[in-house]
Amino acid sequence: MREFQGIGASEGVVFGPARVWHKQNLVVTRRQCAPEEVAGELQRLDAALAMTRAELLDVRGQLASRLGEDHAAILDAQLLILEDETVLSATRESIRHERCSAEAAFARSMAHALMPLDLQGDTVFRERLIDFRDLEQRVLRALQGGADSALELSEPCVLVAPVLTPSETAALDRHRVLGFCVDEGGPTSHTAILARSLGVPAVVGLRELSNAIQDGCELVVDGTTGLVIADPTAAVIKRSQARSERWRRMGERLQEMRDQPAITPDGHVVELAANAEVPFEIELAMETGAQGIGLLRTEYFYFKQGRIPSEEEQFAAYRDVLSRARGETVIFRVLDVGGDKFITGKGGLREANPQLGMRGIRFLLSNAEVLYTQLRSLYRASAFGPVRIMFPMITGLEELRAANDLTRRCRDDLQREGKRFEPDLDVGIMVETPSAVAMARELAAECAFFSIGTNDLTQYILAVDRTNWRVAHLHRPHHPAVLRAIAETISAGHSRGIPVRLCGEMGANPANAILLMGLGIDGISTHAAAIPALKKVIRTITYAQAKAWAQEALSLSTADDVREFLRSKTQQSLRGVLDRRA
Ligand code: PEP
Ligand code: MG
Repeated sequence: MREFQGIGASEGVVFGPARVWHKQNLVVTRRQCAPEEVAGELQRLDAALAMTRAELLDVRGQLASRLGEDHAAILDAQLLILEDETVLSATRESIRHERCSAEAAFARSMAHALMPLDLQGDTVFRERLIDFRDLEQRVLRALQGGADSALELSEPCVLVAPVLTPSETAALDRHRVLGFCVDEGGPTSHTAILARSLGVPAVVGLRELSNAIQDGCELVVDGTTGLVIADPTAAVIKRSQARSERWRRMGERLQEMRDQPAITPDGHVVELAANAEVPFEIELAMETGAQGIGLLRTEYFYFKQGRIPSEEEQFAAYRDVLSRARGETVIFRVLDVGGDKFITGKGGLREANPQLGMRGIRFLLSNAEVLYTQLRSLYRASAFGPVRIMFPMITGLEELRAANDLTRRCRDDLQREGKRFEPDLDVGIMVETPSAVAMARELAAECAFFSIGTNDLTQYILAVDRTNWRVAHLHRPHHPAVLRAIAETISAGHSRGIPVRLCGEMGANPANAILLMGLGIDGISTHAAAIPALKKVIRTITYAQAKAWAQEALSLSTADDVREFLRSKTQQSLRGVLDRRA
């Protein structure tokens, strides 16, 4: 029996034989052609581009009919690259002037175009790189006359691969895939997103699994804990089958929570909302009983296009988000990217420490027209549903004031132009940097709400890069330093009369949620699938108990002590409530 620890990306437990899929990547060697071959190479390139386009449109059609238009839209970024003038004209130039073969010229232009993404530490953007590499391979295969080798599955299995692209994931027969295990990727990779929508357990970030096991090897996959067990003993198999069955039954029971309010037995209410990035997650959130979207990451709308979308495009996209949210409030976080993650023309920086670089509000204030356009679209969308706006990565008052000034200007302009919009939107900030915590009282006086981003706050307080798996075990939001920062932020916000919510992944854990409730948090926003379980625990533990938990946790001095404390509290008070995780 061997164990592999990855990152749980789609919850659930399955047991089955592995099907290991190593797709051969085409490697291009540089070949110079004779002058008389140049015209032929240009024609080959055009034919391969047309063939790839047809192939992608076909996969897109399959995706749209099986999973809906939102999933299909994942392929739009790939289709756009196929028409990208920078890539195509660079390729043609290399063929004409350097007499490169079509393969070598295309591979080189793609390498140039993708370099800025490759250099970024941010997982979201690195994961999109996988999609673009997929496109590159498709074009190269088309140039070499080969068809895409779709994976045929003859029996139900756990699919194991170094990497899976959205088109590969989508082409799979859902009824034959029991689970996914992927070496690369993080919880925001498209494999993870698709696996969650397909309801298939998945573990990503397994690093070497696909090389370490053979086809047919029996696997237990736990998409909740991220643990994969190869060649399990009979006892482990039996336990995992029982867990899988419990998981299914508990899922049915938790669904019954959907229409129940998140209120403690002694009458304390906590707002439970969902985080979303891709539009289809909004419907999922509504189905699990979320009270609106507490964090709408708008990066997707920019990345999907591969360029800055126009005001009209954003306006249409945000209206669509609001209609999916069915009248519930959506907190739109303005663009949170850095440097040249998506716009090579805007600064084009290579940053040694992207997490400490031109991120979030810094990027937006130094590219004020980008923020201004987004604010205009959001205000205009506010005529169609309840909107709140949130600024990411605020470190102090200068930034907040500059962003507020631009917001005022945007409102004045829209008013002058006679546009329909809601002028009194709540505009708040993410508290996700240590300096925002230290300045929380002053910041609270100049914004309408706080949302604590524990993913980043933990990274910055503990100096642990959230994208680096080598230090992932040190990214501990229950560390006393982080808990104290959370408590301080809540008290600063409340002293100024503004609500303080939390939208980091920390809130998805039921024991953490009780702790946060005890610290006085007004709302938690997390991924939709976690909401029924959170409701259940909030409806079980009294506010008085939660406050006692919080007091005790705050008195502890190490992360291990807090973890142990939460574990024992879970055993004592939450056992049986959530036996699905047992
Ligand atoms: C956070 O930092 O906790 C957060 C919710 O934002 P993101 O994960 O998008 O940085
Ligand atoms: Mg953040």
